Amino acid sequence: MKCSKCGREAIYFARYEGRYYCHKHFNELVEGKVKRTIRKYRMIKRGEKVGVAVSGGKDSVVLMHILAKLRKKFPFELVAITIDEGIKGYRDKSVEVARKNAELLGVEHHIYRFKDFIGFTLDETVEIMGPREERVGACSYCGVWRRWLLNKAAEELGVDKLALGLNLDDEVQVFLMNLMRGDVARLGRTGPYYEVIHEGLVPRIKPLREVPEKEIVLYAVLNNIEVDLSECPYATEAFRAEIRDWLNEMEEKHPGTKYQLLRSYDKIFPLLAKTYAKEVKLNRCKICGQPTSGEICKACQFRLQVKEKSENLKFSLTK
Ligand code: SF4
Ligand code: ZN
Repeated sequence: MKCSKCGREAIYFARYEGRYYCHKHFNELVEGKVKRTIRKYRMIKRGEKVGVAVSGGKDSVVLMHILAKLRKKFPFELVAITIDEGIKGYRDKSVEVARKNAELLGVEHHIYRFKDFIGFTLDETVEIMGPREERVGACSYCGVWRRWLLNKAAEELGVDKLALGLNLDDEVQVFLMNLMRGDVARLGRTGPYYEVIHEGLVPRIKPLREVPEKEIVLYAVLNNIEVDLSECPYATEAFRAEIRDWLNEMEEKHPGTKYQLLRSYDKIFPLLAKTYAKEVKLNRCKICGQPTSGEICKACQFRLQVKEKSENLKFSLTK
């Protein structure tokens, strides 16, 4: 097949729009979507400092590559932040991939480790907190601490915006999951753009939200970008996997479904945000000073629980 734009050999067919793309025009397709998303929501202003959260996985690495390319034409500062949760055999590999890519692109890279800031790696936490029935899932600790540490890193590094590698599939999956759980309030707080909810919360942007996962994988392959494709050993979100499979099936039968869902979300988001984004009244956590709706933030609560349990364990071992 021939590229719909230039007639050269096509390497990709975008079913949702019925067009073929050669390598050059495929790159333009993906980069153009990122550019338009940034412009549409005024995600980055000239001269701002953007911190891109890079895990080493395909989405965040591709995002760093595209942002590094964009900053040549549209001046803004770019630094990469990697959170190392301490997951043996998984995160150590991807941190290295993140580091190599940042070096290749000449992007300043900072690694923030759970061990240094929380006191425990995720592996240690799971071990200390015992069997699954007696604790929350590993992803709960991980997610809360990662958000906390990313915000801390962004503040320390003087970052204006935190760029996250969430793609079209992620956005639509989360949209549907929240709808199915009846959690409409959350939908009003995590939309296409973030109002500044609290001065201590660094605004998060999602420049990849219009790029399908499939195109990110292909972009990495075609441009010889090294990414880590392994899966976290704690990943067990069955509900999300079901939604993902169902969405892929719908997209197959009705090309464009994912984009239509995203458009629907974008249309109702401003209405939801009016009601729910204002509802959050944030204080400063009494322990760490980060924004929280209560007195002590969830990250500190988790950290105290793990610390207490580990001290009890040590105590019972020495008895
Ligand atoms: Fe953390 Fe869960 Fe993601 Fe693994 S799958 S990195 S434990 S949130
Ligand atoms: Zn706290």
